[in-house]
Amino acid sequence: MRLILLGPPGAGKGTQAARLVERHGILQLSTGDMLRAAVRDKTPVGLIAQDIMARGDLVPDEVVAQIVADRIAAPDCANGFILDGFPRTVAQAEILKSLLERAGVSLDVVVELVVDESALVGRIEKRARESGAAVRADDTPEALKKRLDVYRAQTAPLSDYYRTTGLLRTVDGMQEMDRVTADVEAVISAAVA
Ligand code: AMP
Repeated sequence: MRLILLGPPGAGKGTQAARLVERHGILQLSTGDMLRAAVRDKTPVGLIAQDIMARGDLVPDEVVAQIVADRIAAPDCANGFILDGFPRTVAQAEILKSLLERAGVSLDVVVELVVDESALVGRIEKRARESGAAVRADDTPEALKKRLDVYRAQTAPLSDYYRTTGLLRTVDGMQEMDRVTADVEAVISAAVA
């Protein structure tokens, strides 16, 4: 099973992806996590990404595309994966399309978690509070505003992109977390049936 989780920062993609991993035994590929690891390890990619991420901008498509290309070519991805945080631009979606074509595989479904923007700031502030010492550099009010602006301008168009391909399914991400999980499972089961 290969799927994409779409949704703005704070929509619950990470939480839902973790639950899918547990239930289906597939991998969660989070470009945010990969980039944070690169920053932590001070790799060449990390050095490029650090400031860009801290201010809430997008890391250049070609940098992220390379990380994803390397990752999905690894043997442990053969059974499938959940892409969390990638693609984030239509250009990245086109890159993903050719990567998958080259690998001879296809996406099963794109699940968008739809949430009211007014709820997102509160959710992210809660995440920052609850994560204690491990506060993300980009969970500040300024970076968060930027991340939401970037989402609206560059990532939201992916809904139409994937609607056109027939792969998009939407789930109400404002519901209680277990309800969201149940709806995500339902749209996935229907898509892979
Ligand atoms: P996330 O953990 O998905 O919220 O991502 C955190 C940050 O990593 C984003 O604000 C971007 O700076 C960067 N990032 C993650 N995924 C991508 C991507 N697909 N394209 C560009 N930048 C990304």
